[in-house]
Amino acid sequence: MTLMRALVLERQHELRLRDIELPTEVGPGEVRIRLHTVGVCGSDVHYYTHGKIGPFVVDAPMVLGHEAAGTVVEIGEGVTNLAVGDRVCMEPGIPDPGSRASRLGMYNVDPAVRFWATPPIHGVLTSFVVHPAAYTFKLPDNVSFAEGAMVEPFAVGMQAATKGGIKPGDTAVVLGAGPIGTMVAIAALAGGCSRVVVADLAQPKLDIAARYQGVIPMNIREKDLVAEVRALTEDWGADVVFECSGSPKAWSSIAELPRPGGTIVVVGLPVEPVAFDIATLSTRELRIESVFRYSHQYDRAIALMGSGRVDLKPLISETFDFEDSIKAFDRAVEARPTDVKLQIRMPQS
Ligand SMILES: [Zn+2]
Repeated sequence: MTLMRALVLERQHELRLRDIELPTEVGPGEVRIRLHTVGVCGSDVHYYTHGKIGPFVVDAPMVLGHEAAGTVVEIGEGVTNLAVGDRVCMEPGIPDPGSRASRLGMYNVDPAVRFWATPPIHGVLTSFVVHPAAYTFKLPDNVSFAEGAMVEPFAVGMQAATKGGIKPGDTAVVLGAGPIGTMVAIAALAGGCSRVVVADLAQPKLDIAARYQGVIPMNIREKDLVAEVRALTEDWGADVVFECSGSPKAWSSIAELPRPGGTIVVVGLPVEPVAFDIATLSTRELRIESVFRYSHQYDRAIALMGSGRVDLKPLISETFDFEDSIKAFDRAVEARPTDVKLQIRMPQS
């Protein structure tokens, strides 16, 4: 353990930049990384404002941050896939490799997973982190650290697109144009959708999503989404519908959106249980899929970004210095509709 300066959530509503004891010893199969850029995620902000997410309660000081890229500065015994100096990004969840979920290939739902900035596990808004090499991914030369720190939220979009079973030429609908909804739309287009209708009430969010070719923005304050999707698909419906708003209201008419045999992918989380039209689900043989974080998506996400097919740079709204991290979080709490992703740049010496 070493004392390192970090952004610490002391308790609900109280952030401090201070020294805290963090592990620095590199074991077999691990690497030590100097952090370069860390994105501010909705979950980090929620711990700050609410002190908990579902069953995860902040009852001891915790370092925030889990969307990270940096440089390998030390490699442990047996590490062959990485070298000192490699520019990398990291998957923030470390499962038990021997668990039943991991052996089934769904390590993201391993109940023993240790995920950065999820109590009681510290996040990475600090100088260095020790991480398994197996969950550390090399960035191509043309992918910046800032983009590397975007791989984590984009991986959620990749997981959703994968679970949606997209086929070339599909039409998709994304409900909610927040950061994750936008990432899902981009992943759905990269996965073969010919067009993605993105629905939201906030025009500034739709304007940002509409910068991506193939996105059809739909302001549902002005337009009837079901009627518009019907009109676009000759009364057939969308092949895949991604629920990314988390709004209980989205569920009242969601079953009207997919085509017969279509798929609904649940990404957003309503706080309360919601009612859902099972009869429509049944008569159309709809399929429902859910998404919890991601598994096996980082290398594919990085490959798409390196190929130039996916450019996430337009989604980085502003970058703060580490010493201004609390400002970055207070800005995130404001939830400006023009902000997609705020990032924090760590000192490099
Ligand atoms: Zn995140």
